[in-house]
Amino acid sequence: MSFRYKDEILNSLSLVRELVRDYESCPECGSNSIGSSTNLGSMGYNGKLGTFERTCKCGWKSKIKVEKV
Ligand SMILES: [Zn+2]
Repeated sequence: MSFRYKDEILNSLSLVRELVRDYESCPECGSNSIGSSTNLGSMGYNGKLGTFERTCKCGWKSKIKVEKV
């Protein structure tokens, strides 16, 4: 699977790595322990879209949709 993210074509592994780097810490409280227990967030796939979700204990939530190519 390949995805388009920031004008680059990435495989799913590189994509998750990029997303984790871009959403490393919570913009609300600065916590860098956001995401799931693995601290990698979660990547879901639904047809032509990959959806990456990160959540923080302060209530901040982000959902990024990435187009599959
Ligand atoms: Zn937070």
